[in-house]
Amino acid sequence: MTRQRPAPLTPQQAQAAIDTRLIALPPEVRPLEQCIGQTLREDVYAERDNPPFDRVCMDGIAVDSGAIGRGIRRLALEAMQPAGAPALTLSNREHAIEVMTGAILPRGTDSVIPLEEYDVADGFVTLKANAAGTPYRNVQRRGADSQPGVPMLCSGIRLGAPEIAVAASAGLARVKVSRQPDIVVISTGDELIDPGQPIAEYQVRRSNVYALVAALRDHGLDRIANDHVRDDERELSERLGQHLAARDVLILSGGVSRGRFDLVPGVLKSLGVGEVFHQVAQRPGMPMWFGVGARGQAVFGLPGNPVSTLLCLVRYVVPALLRAMGGTLAAPEPIALASSIKLGRSDTSFLPVSVQYDARGQAQAVARPTRGSGDFLALAGTRGFIELPPRLEEFPAGYVASLYRW
Ligand code: AMP
Ligand code: MG
Repeated sequence: MTRQRPAPLTPQQAQAAIDTRLIALPPEVRPLEQCIGQTLREDVYAERDNPPFDRVCMDGIAVDSGAIGRGIRRLALEAMQPAGAPALTLSNREHAIEVMTGAILPRGTDSVIPLEEYDVADGFVTLKANAAGTPYRNVQRRGADSQPGVPMLCSGIRLGAPEIAVAASAGLARVKVSRQPDIVVISTGDELIDPGQPIAEYQVRRSNVYALVAALRDHGLDRIANDHVRDDERELSERLGQHLAARDVLILSGGVSRGRFDLVPGVLKSLGVGEVFHQVAQRPGMPMWFGVGARGQAVFGLPGNPVSTLLCLVRYVVPALLRAMGGTLAAPEPIALASSIKLGRSDTSFLPVSVQYDARGQAQAVARPTRGSGDFLALAGTRGFIELPPRLEEFPAGYVASLYRW
């Protein structure tokens, strides 16, 4: 009796099946310069008040607003207060101290008059008619932006340039971020040739690996090796065995369909990788395979068709890895269809799109269908893809779908 194949999972079931099996990775400490794109794993608090002192924010003179209010218009210049020097003290309330942007406000002063509003001669300042010396004019007050004890960054966010600046301002030279999984991206197929190598008519460029590595790097994953294995059972078994021993995550492209040389699922099973699912009710990407090795290694068998490979990586693999790294992921963006589309399918569809904006600034998805899952040239210039549920009827213009950006 032949064993009944289980029905393909829905994309939501496939995602849940992956999420529940990925092992959470512990944090590691990295120098701040190596943290761009990483997932923060600690809350970052302000080191002190920010600004840390009443800060001058214009070049000019610091004065006592009370004196200006009493009508003092000619003031002796006592001293000069540059940025990066301890606070001077104004000895006479009717005098002034020259100040530079970024300096601490001198003691005894509470207002900065910018240099356009006065003339200087013989050590005296004469205010012009329009000069104003109201309290705390051109002064950023201590603690106005943040105070110690208030978290400025929360665990789980991805560190971009602004967040790196905040961590530096908190005095952190080293930051706790997610440990990166050791990933290997493996292409399979006798027909594949690397760019830069001579190629015959019947051969194909090994483009998937380049796309996968680029997408992983784009999402902040940076411990990535890559390999290529021919459609040979012994070679596949030996090399996958080595990778299973050395890595946390294996991402394979190709060899998971039903052809004679689609050897990947069988070889993985023989190496003790437990199959979690084979096939997802989606187009493209139906043959996707996922399993877990004896040490908890995650093994993704992505279909080799280049459109399927990249879609499956972005839809399933990247979010699952970021979640395992303790990242808080934004839900996929809702986006309205720019025009109606009829797919007439009983499976979920992934449709490449570009994004345009209507007159009110609302984003709209413009379908950029490929001519099949091998037509990856059509992906160039797209922003990502939308996920559309099974539906035989048309999706009207304005229908709101989930956008996954590349
Ligand atoms: P497979 O899933 O191995 O049956 O491959 C499906 C199709 O994708 C075939 O036309 C392959 O030549 C192509 N393909 C497989 N792997 C790659 C790759 N790494 N780069 C580009 N095309 C590939
Ligand atoms: Mg193949």
